[in-house]
Amino acid sequence: MNISRNIRIIFIGAPGAGKGTQSDLLARRYKIPKISVGELLRKLVNNNISNNINLGDLISDSIVCNIVKMRLCKNDCNNGFILDGFPRSINQAQYLTINNIKINFVFNIKLSYKIIIKRLLGRRIHKSSGRVYHIKYNPPQVDGLDNVTGEQLISRKDDNIDIIKHRLKIHNEQITNIISYYKQEVKLGNITSYTEIDGNKSINLILTEIINKINYFI
Ligand code: AMP
Repeated sequence: MNISRNIRIIFIGAPGAGKGTQSDLLARRYKIPKISVGELLRKLVNNNISNNINLGDLISDSIVCNIVKMRLCKNDCNNGFILDGFPRSINQAQYLTINNIKINFVFNIKLSYKIIIKRLLGRRIHKSSGRVYHIKYNPPQVDGLDNVTGEQLISRKDDNIDIIKHRLKIHNEQITNIISYYKQEVKLGNITSYTEIDGNKSINLILTEIINKINYFI
């Protein structure tokens, strides 16, 4: 598929709602990079940042905004990009606008906290590739091992019940302002569309819904 139009997508939604999964699929389909701010932060060798991530706290807007800005300057973003997990605060949303970083599509994947908790508690990661499994809904072929390399899967340190609840509380505090901001941006014509997606649907159904929305406009 060769899409010449610049597709710039933002995923908002709680941790565990499925943003990363959809970002990966869309990145492959449209051949644009998926930029996961969480992944970028985890790669930094910085004890303060690692501690904050493990505690489920947000990293400061100034650090995160700088990391995103630097990543977006790379050539592979010329035809578009997908931001997974950014913005997570109204300051971050405004940062994009102030810096003239144009966004076309905002997708908000919505899912009940009860289901999110189940998903995150069962989530297993292959650390070096970022491949994601779930012990029940998407188990690896061999229990506890990555399908491709056979290496051990791990649980993220912030995927434990107390930290998950803390992450969801923070999400809940921030998301209303972010949604209002993007609804306003659509009204002003700065953004093509803001779409709420039912995160309970299957991965394929959600993907189809997102692609249909994008195709409608490009
Ligand atoms: P994620 O991999 O998206 O679940 O993010 C993991 C963690 O990275 C979050 O709980 C935060 O500590 C940090 N993080 C990721 N994205 C952001 C962001 N946009 N702003 C601040 N902190 C972030």
